[in-house]
Amino acid sequence: MMDMPEHFHTGQGELRIDLNAISNNYLWLKSLAEPATCSAVVKANAYGLGLDQVAPALKNAGCQVFFIATLAEGVRLRQLLADIDIYILNGLMPEQAALFTEFNLMPVLNDLAQVRAWVAHCRLNQQQYPAAIHLDTGMNRLGLSAKEVEALLPNVGMLEAMQVKYWMSHLACSTESSNPMNAEQLTRFTALLEQLPPAPASLSNSAGILLGKSYHFDLVRPGLALYGGNPWDQPAPLSPVVRLLAPILQVREVKSPATIGYDATYKVEKPMRVAAIAAGYADGFGSFFSNRGYAMIDGEKAPFLGRVSMDSMMLDVTHIPVDKTRPGTRVELIGPQHTINTGANTAGILSYEMLTGLGARYRKIYLEASCHVRE
Ligand SMILES: *Cc1c(COP(=O)(O)O)cnc(C)c1O
Repeated sequence: MMDMPEHFHTGQGELRIDLNAISNNYLWLKSLAEPATCSAVVKANAYGLGLDQVAPALKNAGCQVFFIATLAEGVRLRQLLADIDIYILNGLMPEQAALFTEFNLMPVLNDLAQVRAWVAHCRLNQQQYPAAIHLDTGMNRLGLSAKEVEALLPNVGMLEAMQVKYWMSHLACSTESSNPMNAEQLTRFTALLEQLPPAPASLSNSAGILLGKSYHFDLVRPGLALYGGNPWDQPAPLSPVVRLLAPILQVREVKSPATIGYDATYKVEKPMRVAAIAAGYADGFGSFFSNRGYAMIDGEKAPFLGRVSMDSMMLDVTHIPVDKTRPGTRVELIGPQHTINTGANTAGILSYEMLTGLGARYRKIYLEASCHVRE
């Protein structure tokens, strides 16, 4: 967009993304995982924060291996960064093998048919193209089932046609450190690795990294923790990455009896001051935030009132001084004291959803290592 004066943005929410904090989080996770390699999961536009800015920042922090969900995302990442390893988590769909090779992308092969298709592609081109192979150990989402592994074993010689970069699996309950399913999956994964041809292995997402060394294998795959979301059931020294501010659009005095917002779900019982702010369900504050959650204004909580609208929602600012709530004042929806995790908990959603749902309409401002601000 052409250069606009600062006041052009006064009525718009602002998402501040600290790329330096993402690098710090990467380096912390890497130090926990060492000697295993630490990759970065950047699917869904780097969890909503902007692949174009986040991926180069991670690469500058030393990350060489990236996981992303779709082929289209992978092509975009390849166009940004030429010399990194990129794995496509959603796997190899029919007819796509040549495209993977064209863009130097590696599939995570999720079933036996995908393994066979990749082997056939390698044989056709007489090249040992690399790929990861995903073994299901209890998630029942993606990956070769136990039955498929059984069918693979007598034909395991075919894997010589390709390069198995990683045997991979994924934990279902890693956010609960004491859940017995973690150890069960670890045992199942280890048993499978013993039967299969030797290759590096990868099991843990962010939360899995904290389960201990035995969960690290050769490569870990954090996503959420890079972006400051805490997936653990305990505090962690993560740097906050996201700050979300939205301006007050209008303030009104409301007398009782009255109601606020669509469907009149909030009943006013005493005189109140109510502020409308520029963030709604199109900006990641879904209806689960209706009458739940709050913004911070000058260190005070301003609770959400009524149904969230598409482009706005209302706050109770009765207790906040008038000069702190003038139209144009920015209120904090996510910040260091009011994190992705606390916001998600209040609404009863996942911190992952909160982050990826933030949407495309905010003015995104990237803070970089040098404190240089770039849009
Ligand atoms: C999304 C994903 C990750 C990253 O998970 P986080 O919990 O965000 O760290 C790792 N591995 C796989 C297979 C994934 O789908």
